[in-house]
Amino acid sequence: MNEAFMRKAIELSIDNVKNGGGPFGAVIVRGDDIIATGVNRVTANNDPTAHAEVSAIRAACEKLGTFNLEGCEIYTSCEPCPMCLGAIYWAHLDRMYYANTKHDAADIGFDDSFIYEEIALTPDKRRLVSRELLRDEALQAFRDWTAKTDKTEY
Ligand SMILES: [Zn+2]
Repeated sequence: MNEAFMRKAIELSIDNVKNGGGPFGAVIVRGDDIIATGVNRVTANNDPTAHAEVSAIRAACEKLGTFNLEGCEIYTSCEPCPMCLGAIYWAHLDRMYYANTKHDAADIGFDDSFIYEEIALTPDKRRLVSRELLRDEALQAFRDWTAKTDKTEY
């Protein structure tokens, strides 16, 4: 745990407000080194997935030439939303530190609690209309994957 890395994430979040982005910043580190940073660019880039954590993960993976960030840690200026939390798991980051809480974010209009609530529901109970379609045909890709002997596991 290194407060200097968190201060960097916080500084990024403050600067990003001045630069037209949302008030979020993230830093990915390995040991004593900053590997990559990210800020929220949702409105600036017209990209709803351009949250600070996802942006930092993309940059770190590109820099290190890997899809697996084991050995790295993320410092984020705010407790992550479900998308970013999922991305942090998929990236295999060793550890996460956050500053603002999701309740602090909700207080200023960034309330992701509805997504957490939706995740707990079965698809037929969610606000997002979701229906299973053509599963039998789609399973072919899964059979191919299972049979493939030279795949890159992740
Ligand atoms: Zn997020």
